Amino acid sequence: MKHPSLRRLKRSVLLPYGLAFIALIVSMWSIQIALLRLESFPAPASKTYLLKKEDRTLVDITFVDSPKISLDFVDDMINPMLRVMQNHMGSAPYHARIVVYGQGFPASITNQHASAIAAYIPAEDIFIVDLNKTYQSKPKDFPIRQWIAFLMGHEATHLWQAKRGDDMSKGSPKGLLYNSDKHEREAFQEGQNVANSLGFPQQIAWKFKGESAFVTPSPNPYWFMPFDKKPDIHISYNWTLRGKALSLWNWVRSSHI
Ligand SMILES: [Zn+2]
Repeated sequence: MKHPSLRRLKRSVLLPYGLAFIALIVSMWSIQIALLRLESFPAPASKTYLLKKEDRTLVDITFVDSPKISLDFVDDMINPMLRVMQNHMGSAPYHARIVVYGQGFPASITNQHASAIAAYIPAEDIFIVDLNKTYQSKPKDFPIRQWIAFLMGHEATHLWQAKRGDDMSKGSPKGLLYNSDKHEREAFQEGQNVANSLGFPQQIAWKFKGESAFVTPSPNPYWFMPFDKKPDIHISYNWTLRGKALSLWNWVRSSHI
């Protein structure tokens, strides 16, 4: 026996839920946009430490909105950076600040580094890393550790370029100018060299469209470089309202759509 009235009833019961769901999505989206504009860099984990121990190499990492991080991953990020720094800047102690974003960069960063996976910001002396993009951009055949070495070696090169006095204030040029930019080319070469010195089975050979691949020198300068850096590492975790809204948003999306 059919109950035509039951179907009508069902529809009228579901309608308010549907409208409320749409309202929820719209409001969360606008909250996200608003929060994106407010966010600034988190305070370093080692604020007071920085003043006291100038003679030690220190790496200060803040994970923003990214809870699932292993200490091995931290090592994989820091090691290639310190190798590049030591190779070009000597073994003087250095204090590096890295901010790793687990839910994308805030708007204050994306204005300048729209498509960046990672970047060095000379004005702040800070490295930033987009964790999702790091994983998404990894070529299939390479282990993530080698890819991270490539990215972080690249960014450490930009630090060295800034410290040697090159003007890095304008950031990377866009489009085809990016491919021919001497700072970028040097950074790709250096990132490749350090990533290919770590004993992974395949060699990264970076290639811009229409060009031949970068060649890693043999012997690789990083093979024989004595490397004894044991930095102090300070790690802090920081959840932003934006990150919370985004993870809620992702949860709503994945469980309802
Ligand atoms: Zn670069």
